[in-house]
Amino acid sequence: MKQVNPDKLVGSKTKSGAEPYDGNAATLSGADLSERESRWNYALVGSGLGVWDHNLRLGKRYYSDTWKIMRGMAPDEEADGDYDAWIELIHPDDRDFVVKAIERQNAGDPGYQIFEYRERHRNGHWIWIECRGACVEWDEDGAPARLVGTDTDITERKEAAERLAHVSRRLDLALDISDIGVFEADIENGTVDWDDRLLAIYGMTDTSPANTSSTWEASLHPDDRDRVLATLEESVATNTDFQHEFRIIRQDGIERVIRAKAAFFVDSDGRRKLIGANWDVTAEVRLNNELQRAKDLAEARNKELESAKENIEHLALHDYLTGLPNRRYLDRKLDECSAECRRTGLSLAILHIDLDRFKQINDTLGHRAGDAMLKHAAQVLRGSVRSTDFVARIGGDEFVVLCTLDVTPRKISNLAERIIRELCKPIRYEGHDCRFGGSIGIATDSGPALDAKQLLLNADIALYRAKSGGRNRHEFFSTDERRRIIASKRLADEILLGLERGEFIPFYQLQFDAQTLDVAGVETLARWQHREHGLLAPDRFLTIAEDLDAVSTIDGLILDQALVDRARWEKEGLFIPKIAVNVSARRLGDPNLAKKLRSLKIEPGSISFELLESISLDDCDDAVIGNLRQLRRLGIDIEIDDFGTGHASIVSLLKLSPKTLKIDRELIRMLPHSAEQRKLVRSIIDIGRSLNILVTAEGVETMDHVRILGDLGCDMLQGYALARPMPALQIPPFVRAASWRSAEGRSLQHDLRKSGAR
Ligand code: C2E
Ligand code: CA
Ligand code: CA
Repeated sequence: MKQVNPDKLVGSKTKSGAEPYDGNAATLSGADLSERESRWNYALVGSGLGVWDHNLRLGKRYYSDTWKIMRGMAPDEEADGDYDAWIELIHPDDRDFVVKAIERQNAGDPGYQIFEYRERHRNGHWIWIECRGACVEWDEDGAPARLVGTDTDITERKEAAERLAHVSRRLDLALDISDIGVFEADIENGTVDWDDRLLAIYGMTDTSPANTSSTWEASLHPDDRDRVLATLEESVATNTDFQHEFRIIRQDGIERVIRAKAAFFVDSDGRRKLIGANWDVTAEVRLNNELQRAKDLAEARNKELESAKENIEHLALHDYLTGLPNRRYLDRKLDECSAECRRTGLSLAILHIDLDRFKQINDTLGHRAGDAMLKHAAQVLRGSVRSTDFVARIGGDEFVVLCTLDVTPRKISNLAERIIRELCKPIRYEGHDCRFGGSIGIATDSGPALDAKQLLLNADIALYRAKSGGRNRHEFFSTDERRRIIASKRLADEILLGLERGEFIPFYQLQFDAQTLDVAGVETLARWQHREHGLLAPDRFLTIAEDLDAVSTIDGLILDQALVDRARWEKEGLFIPKIAVNVSARRLGDPNLAKKLRSLKIEPGSISFELLESISLDDCDDAVIGNLRQLRRLGIDIEIDDFGTGHASIVSLLKLSPKTLKIDRELIRMLPHSAEQRKLVRSIIDIGRSLNILVTAEGVETMDHVRILGDLGCDMLQGYALARPMPALQIPPFVRAASWRSAEGRSLQHDLRKSGAR
């Protein structure tokens, strides 16, 4: 700088670049002087100090090379020391200050001996200059006469300081925003410095470095204290940085959670220190805790759902009563087992078990008894199989056992026998000895083509055979059986469908007075008008309909239609004295039979019921006896069908008080050729007569039969010789034609035979 007081310089401007001035020069030799000067010069150049010397008294100003170079001037360039020009180079913000500082420096104010300011470099940029100067001579009036000093380019230092300030400003801001408190601990002497933010975190206003440690320790939550102090101690001992979290209780009693991080360092004095930061993470921890709680809750709920799901799955796959796997489970298991057997070549055996007499127990002792029996059966099954076998209840009283591995027919047979034996043992239920049993159908297979579904069907078919073969037995499946069973199963389905569609209709076979050959009555015979197979006679459907329990229904339908047909015939002027309908044993035991018949408003004496002789009347139940009584009351007659084939006792016949006996056609067939048969038939006719019972002969196939039976005193005749069974519509023309009386009539019957009426 040009450290010149403008006032003092007024009028004393001289040329600059004068020699360096030395107050002691007069006492030194020339050589000494120059040596001294060069030494100073080197020192000054080396230290980067630019020297200035203003001798006001002599009007001399000196500026060293360094002084010029730092401003971008050439060393040999003349610096004229013009104050006004120079002041223009000062940074505008510093100008007023510099003017004042020079004034104060000249005045010897120690506060201004050193000051800093910015001056423009030749190249246009600003440089920071530290100016040190002092007045070294005064004139007589005490005014400064000579001022000497140095300028140093401190731009770099200033920039470093600025950088530091910049960084610490940022740091401060960051700490401020994040509410991080900082401490610095001197390990050796145990003092700790806290900044204001740290104090605020701990709810304190002040603490002395010597007490900070103990204050801090005291604020630690009692439950965390030992752990925290141990961490700290360990870190100090091993010189390792640490991070931990702990609770404090502030002086205002509030609990907070603090996270702390600290690092060791050695300061410039070689002292071991620890610098660390604390911040309040209470909100974060609370949030975390809440999240954790929510997560725990969700997990607990998931677990509940999971177990509910398992429960539901269990329910869906098990039978509630016995706890055994159910049909769905069996299907799943079948898939698994068959896949395993296909893969490994093992055999799969299916035992299909059906309880015998279960329905009776259920019906007579009630459902609770039934349930107890089912539970018992489940126990028997579980107890009879190996642990690797699978037992399921697949419906009412049906169970299935699956066995894999080495299933030989003999072993399976033994298993089935064992199960049946156990099932047959009587069980005590509320004072009753309940007895039931079981039938078992068995199917086994192995190999890569094993089909579990088919195997199950096969076991079912074998079961059917076991049941029809007398119950309490087991049967293995055979292929022929399957074909037959499948056919009859299909037929059973078709029968049910046929009933719905009204495909069962009556045919009528006329009966004649044996002496006059007048029409004496008609027997209804059921026919099935099958959509594919045409007209079917009872031998094609009656047995299966019996299994289906559908014969009563058919009987009822036939009677209904017979009444309708009879009414229609009467309208046409044809009077049939009596219509006989066949009645199955089941229908005769139907407790609602009388009610149904009453609703039909049957004209007394017009209808008779044909009962098979095989209906044993000796051990008839009350329902049958009641029904028979009702029939008599309604004016419905009883006829004993197929008489002579069974073992009906005369006593039971009397009990029934039938109107008519129908001699079975087997006894009639041989009449013309066997005197023996003729004798037998005659004695039947005699018995009838003595008991006041009419006698009808069935299977009257020839005119010989007609003649012989007439001679034997038979009452009525029924057979192909006189009339074949025919549909209702053909009855009136047939009767009108009266063809049975003539030889021509027989040829008409021939036509009828061809028409399929039998
Ligand atoms: P059924 O009661 O003994 O009926 C007489 C059967 O003998 C009839 O056979 C009839 O067509 C046949 N028939 C009649 N005249 C002659 C003859 O001169 N020679 C021979 N060989 N047979 C003759 P269908 O119609 O096939 O009936 C067979 C059996 O089916 C009946 O025997 C009866 O027990 C039963 N049935 C027929 N319809 C019904 C019905 O609606 N309800 C019940 N429960 N059973 C019926
Ligand atoms: Ca009959
Ligand atoms: Ca018969």
